[in-house]
Amino acid sequence: MRHVLKMFPKTHITIAAATSVVIAAAILMSPSADVEANRMAYSLDLDEGTVKESGTPSPRPSKQPAADKMSEDKATAASELASISNETQLPGALDTAAAMAEVSEPELQWQEYKIKSGDTLSSLFGKAGFNDGIMLSVIHGSGEADKLQRLYAGETIAFATDDAGELAAIDLQRNLLETLHVEKTEEGFTGETVVREPDVKPAFASGVIDGSLYVAAREAGMSDRLAMEMAGIFGWNIDFVYDVRKGDRFEVVYEELYLDGEKFDTGNILSARFINQGKEVIALQYTDSNGDTDYYSPDGSSMRKAFLRTPINARVSSSFNLQRRHPVLDVVRPHEGTDYAAPPGTPIKAAGHGRVQFAGWKGGYGRTVILKHGDNITTLYAHMSRLGKGIKNGTKVKQGDTIGHVGSSGMVTGPHLHYEFRINGSPRNSRKVKLPDAKPVPKSEMALFKGFAEQQVAKFELFRQNYQHLALAADE
Ligand SMILES: [Zn+2]
Repeated sequence: MRHVLKMFPKTHITIAAATSVVIAAAILMSPSADVEANRMAYSLDLDEGTVKESGTPSPRPSKQPAADKMSEDKATAASELASISNETQLPGALDTAAAMAEVSEPELQWQEYKIKSGDTLSSLFGKAGFNDGIMLSVIHGSGEADKLQRLYAGETIAFATDDAGELAAIDLQRNLLETLHVEKTEEGFTGETVVREPDVKPAFASGVIDGSLYVAAREAGMSDRLAMEMAGIFGWNIDFVYDVRKGDRFEVVYEELYLDGEKFDTGNILSARFINQGKEVIALQYTDSNGDTDYYSPDGSSMRKAFLRTPINARVSSSFNLQRRHPVLDVVRPHEGTDYAAPPGTPIKAAGHGRVQFAGWKGGYGRTVILKHGDNITTLYAHMSRLGKGIKNGTKVKQGDTIGHVGSSGMVTGPHLHYEFRINGSPRNSRKVKLPDAKPVPKSEMALFKGFAEQQVAKFELFRQNYQHLALAADE
């Protein structure tokens, strides 16, 4: 299978054909942080900002120079950012930008600083050449101007000076999407948070497993987060620790997020297909008429079970065994649960929706939580170091909520989770017991869903063909 991966080293394509992407390619070609490259990328970027035919309207054209400069800085390597972090002034580039801006716009000089821990608003104003009196008049301004006081390391602040050398505007860029913009008006300073909506485009990745799922996913161009999400979606049907075999295959359609034609992150998995030991499992994301979003198989059944098979990301260290010799007491003592060895502090998840029936110390079990699910099922989690936030008798919990953390409280030889699953009070092997399914697509919208599912499943074939076409072209 390895040779397949070598033939298709970049099993990752984006189906997108917006004009902005073409421009973005030019920008991406010069991500270097030296001033010349910056200037080139910058003017292209600015161009894109002023032409603006795509679906992301820039919040205010007059701020575009600063906003663009900052997002472009984000694209440069972290180390390069660090080297220019303290006094990020590129007067040459700014002059160019200003000259290229519409003639009607006032000519502003921008100075930009990366905020580090220890910086204060006062010290940043000082660096930009403005005193505390001006700072106070800004934060006492209208709108959201006062929010300028909440600074966090890693954010970027830019000061704009007008022809007369007076402060005209401030952009505090919280992250790629969110900027607090403060501007001088006739009535003084006024602030407004500007949030940009990314363009969302579907992307496709596929891979063949040789070693681990994560290695295969990475070779397919997927981030670890995306790989984890995929494992989470299929985790109900496939045990990724024990069931995955060499030669298993996956295909994923997911969202890529773009800003100014430049990819900056990935979003949700829209659909995924996994061939595990020859058996196909398909998951489709669907939002029902109540607005609840979940993953379903093409027949409308939920990808989830009403219970997690495993309430922790850890390996089994001791199995359910009603004949077991107890490791501490050295007598035959049934092991009415499954043990998972994990470092102290590892989060423990609620196996299903339910209510806390017990939370506290329980003899040899140590710090323990018992959840009640419906009428006849309870789950028990023992030896915790501490309970989850807000976990006490009567608390309502949702599947996957953190109800506690691994520890070694009670009678134990080392830190682990002891997990029990009981039906009508009698212990069952949580790894073998047949788990009830979570709710399927509502009957009233099943016909609608079936049509949607058919389209989504057909898309795998479409993406696959495109991908093979691209891969072969790259191979030539
Ligand atoms: Zn145990």
